[in-house]
Amino acid sequence: MDFLRPATWAEALAAKAADPTAVPIQGGTDVMVEINFDVRRPPALLDLTAIGELGDWELTADGLLRVGAGVPYARIITELGDRLPGLAQASRTVGSPQIRNRGTVGGNLGAASPAGDAHPPLLACDAVIEAESAARGTRMIPATGFYLGVKRNALEPDELIRAVHLRPATGPQYFSKVGTRNAMVIAVCSFALALHPGERRLGAAVGSAAPTPLRARAAEEFAAREFDWSGATALDPALLARFGELAAEAASPIDDVRGTAAYRRHAIAVLARRTLTWAWNDYRGKAAA
Ligand SMILES: Cc1cc2nc3c(=O)[nH]c(=O)nc-3n(C[C@H](O)[C@H](O)[C@H](O)COP(=O)(O)OP(=O)(O)OC[C@H]3O[C@@H](n4cnc5c(N)ncnc54)[C@H](O)[C@@H]3O)c2cc1C
Repeated sequence: MDFLRPATWAEALAAKAADPTAVPIQGGTDVMVEINFDVRRPPALLDLTAIGELGDWELTADGLLRVGAGVPYARIITELGDRLPGLAQASRTVGSPQIRNRGTVGGNLGAASPAGDAHPPLLACDAVIEAESAARGTRMIPATGFYLGVKRNALEPDELIRAVHLRPATGPQYFSKVGTRNAMVIAVCSFALALHPGERRLGAAVGSAAPTPLRARAAEEFAAREFDWSGATALDPALLARFGELAAEAASPIDDVRGTAAYRRHAIAVLARRTLTWAWNDYRGKAAA
């Protein structure tokens, strides 16, 4: 197996163009597990860890956070938790401290597992993935168009993920996950919510309950249409219940070793109601202040 270690982003793109079968490796918390268990034995590994810029984040001129593909979860929690609370909350549930020190959102996107914890908050926050190839330059891919199937994403064979672009939170954001224990656990299902009170709408997304992570569109449209976005009133229990039902209907879960389809649907409704209650209470608290 060849081990390629570019020192710059341009070198990495050139290496990927020269050998599209080379497998990028960032934190290695997915790639090394697969190699150790002989799930795959790629002809070449493309180690991205020497490219310093992938570990940086910045506020761009248009007010977005541009988070390098190599920023580990631990730094998202400590450095961006105030501006990306939903993604930070999801990051806190990933693996163990060791995994959070090495694992990255870029790697979660590369793996594109339906159970990846970064995906629902990225979808709920309208994140955009910055991909690049030597031949065609930069391509901005909305998260909604990034997940194509189980462990399949929209990257072309010669493309790499450079960064993720997200608007800093404009309202409360929450993530909640059901697992078979409290830590070091793959989600049985998960749910993320991002309120955008200024736009009188919210983003809602479901994880680990369909072949891909996905937006709960009908629930989002219902909330935009039916909620009192002045923040003056508590949520009517009937609206809360309907929101949960619509979130559950967005899912198309399967029975597997982690849970049944019926349980996942039930749990998505619970998570949707729970995160919405937390977020709405925060919003009302702020609106009243
Ligand atoms: C013990 C353990 C616990 C875990 N717990 C969780 C959990 O709770 N939640 C969860 O979501 N995940 C979990 N994982 C999975 C893993 O940690 C995450 O998916 C993590 O985000 C992967 O990031 P990484 O940087 O380590 O990726 P890597 O392993 O380096 O790469 C993952 C994939 O992304 C590709 N890739 C990496 N960087 C790029 C790039 N810049 N451009 C294009 N493709 C790229 C790689 O080729 C590979 O296909 C766990 C893993 C382990 C071993």
